[in-house]
Amino acid sequence: MFENLSERLDRSFKLLKGEGKITEINVAETLKDVRKALLDADVNYKVAKQFTDTVKEKALGQNVLTSIKPSQLMVKIVHDELASLMGGTAAEIDLKGSPSIILMSGLQGSGKTTFTGKLANMLKTKKGKSPLLVACDVYRPAAIEQLKVLGEQIGVPVYAELESKSPVEIALNAIKEAKNKGNDLVIVDTAGRLAIDEQMMQEITAIKNAIQPNETLFVVDAMTGQDAVNTAKEFNERLDFNGVVLTKLDGDTRGGAALSIRSVVDKPIKFVGTGEKMDALDVFHPDRMADRILG
Ligand code: GDP
Repeated sequence: MFENLSERLDRSFKLLKGEGKITEINVAETLKDVRKALLDADVNYKVAKQFTDTVKEKALGQNVLTSIKPSQLMVKIVHDELASLMGGTAAEIDLKGSPSIILMSGLQGSGKTTFTGKLANMLKTKKGKSPLLVACDVYRPAAIEQLKVLGEQIGVPVYAELESKSPVEIALNAIKEAKNKGNDLVIVDTAGRLAIDEQMMQEITAIKNAIQPNETLFVVDAMTGQDAVNTAKEFNERLDFNGVVLTKLDGDTRGGAALSIRSVVDKPIKFVGTGEKMDALDVFHPDRMADRILG
């Protein structure tokens, strides 16, 4: 994950090796390299500029106060700024109420259905929740089948209505069912499309308004870089979601989405998917991610 970015940043810091102190000149040279590394990792242009401006200011400001070596000081400042760029501290998930309700959103193929299963599995095994999964994709019977297969794997029931064509009705009926059967968590998987379209947005907005979820999560494939950030922006404008789930971080992703999304949409990354299996899910910790990036 982010190997290339890690290597490039490491190389940038080496420019300061042997320097006695941080100066306007050597910091500018180093940060030019850092900025290029960020842009090559597909970080949003404005985000990369703002990032290096902040690091520069801090490096020049802290320089006189410390006796640590310039390269070490730069690593520390970049680490802290990377963590802050990704949100600082780990975000909580709201599980108040019974049942608590979580709504999934995102494009088709982003990993929504897989994440629905993973989240149910995590909250069942780690928090003792009794989830009910809801299949709200009325267009693709295969999507309903996929959720059922995952539900079986993790021992969690799945609510579906093959004859209904109204996702709002299905979601509301599922919540009733959860109340009747004593499920304290309802996770609603919705239909995605290959690209953003008006009908999908209207449908998911209607579901959100009807079920008033504790959390609406936006699921996005980290491999899609800048597109991930643009899609997040559009979904957020319509849905005002609570948090982001970045999937496929186990792949050859460059890091741009993880680093840009928070500052572009101002919503936290809450979880990251790291594989296809049901246990390949992590809570997102910005500082740990910064540690990994800096190796
Ligand atoms: P949906 O259309 O948004 O519901 O997406 P799916 O859940 O069907 O996922 C699309 C594909 O991505 C499937 O082949 C999943 O196994 C795969 N996938 C989902 N999450 C991850 C992940 O974190 N890592 C990897 N490597 N593959 C994933």
